Amino acid sequence: MKIQMVDLITQYERIKPEIDAAIQRVIDSGQFIMGKEVYEFEKALARYLKTRYAIGCASGTDALQIALMALGVDPGDEVITTPFTFVATVETIVLLGAKAVFVDVEEDTLNIDPSKIEQALTKKTKVIIPVHLYGQPAEMDSIMEISRKHGLRIVEDAGQAIGAEYRGRRVGGIGDIGCISFFPSKNLGAFGDAGMMVTNNSELADRLRLISLHGAKMKYSHDVVGLNSRLDTIQAAILNTKLKYVEEWHEVRRRTAAKYDELLKDSGASLPHVRPHNRHIFHQYTIRVKNRDGLSKSLKSKEIPHAIYYPVPLHLQPAYKRFGYREGDFPISERLAKEVLSLPMHTELTIAQLEYIATAVREFVQENVVVS
Ligand SMILES: *Cc1c(COP(=O)(O)O)cnc(C)c1O
Repeated sequence: MKIQMVDLITQYERIKPEIDAAIQRVIDSGQFIMGKEVYEFEKALARYLKTRYAIGCASGTDALQIALMALGVDPGDEVITTPFTFVATVETIVLLGAKAVFVDVEEDTLNIDPSKIEQALTKKTKVIIPVHLYGQPAEMDSIMEISRKHGLRIVEDAGQAIGAEYRGRRVGGIGDIGCISFFPSKNLGAFGDAGMMVTNNSELADRLRLISLHGAKMKYSHDVVGLNSRLDTIQAAILNTKLKYVEEWHEVRRRTAAKYDELLKDSGASLPHVRPHNRHIFHQYTIRVKNRDGLSKSLKSKEIPHAIYYPVPLHLQPAYKRFGYREGDFPISERLAKEVLSLPMHTELTIAQLEYIATAVREFVQENVVVS
């Protein structure tokens, strides 16, 4: 049985004529940089996420960097986030000369633990970046309350969570700025790199746009230091075409996750824990087992693709040792890094495939490991 971790080709083939026509329109227009499709997609995405503004950029990583620049993060400032995230969350902090201050995650959601944030605050803290990991929202009410109490800004890393909802609100528009990635394998994926920043604050929206376009409102008049980070017109045309389907795709993923839940219940593996007020969009379906590396080997022998997001928490990565953290500082993140395993998750999985995957997991867990 041939199973894929992600299946971008089948999804494309289902809507090929529409996508091909959208790409051709851009080519025919010759407007490859900031063509009208960019503005159309920004408008459509703002409507979808229920934010006032959406500003395109070249990637989710750039979205984070531009957001931090717009909020005035300078050398010496401190930015709080979790060590259990994709590296982009942290590298953008460090590129601006700021210090990444880590806070451990919650055992069940794997997102930043709000009850541990206040003890990490100093006079230099400027921003908190909650990451909505795997597509499940972080505990935003508590985080927003901390930000109000201490005058901090919130950048939501919604790189994996477009369309996820916290108490009925789409993530990205809850904090000051939300950052979205359209990396091809994300729930709404481009055919290359692309990203977006969303906000409800008009001043911030202006600043985000300014920074993404070389800091220039008018050509060759540079008000602030910016960068070249535009949303490519062809990518915008593709994304605007795909946006119509994203709710349907989220629902397919949610049904796939529910099927995994059913097939793996009582297997001994620890399954994703979704808080009742969250709408999880299952960018990943991630289980936890004690003998994770053994399970990985066993799945590999059966040609079942899977992935480890993420095998080493960022405070223990060589590039970020400079902040002086040690093994044992963030015990939950460190344990998760040894236990997590993401199973195939996309819109094209069949019941037979899910049964085959679940049987392989069950057999291994029941023969080999103690319950996590
Ligand atoms: C994908 C992702 C990013 C970065 O997005 P790119 O578009 O690949 O630059 C940032 N944060 C998280 C949590 C992500 O998953």
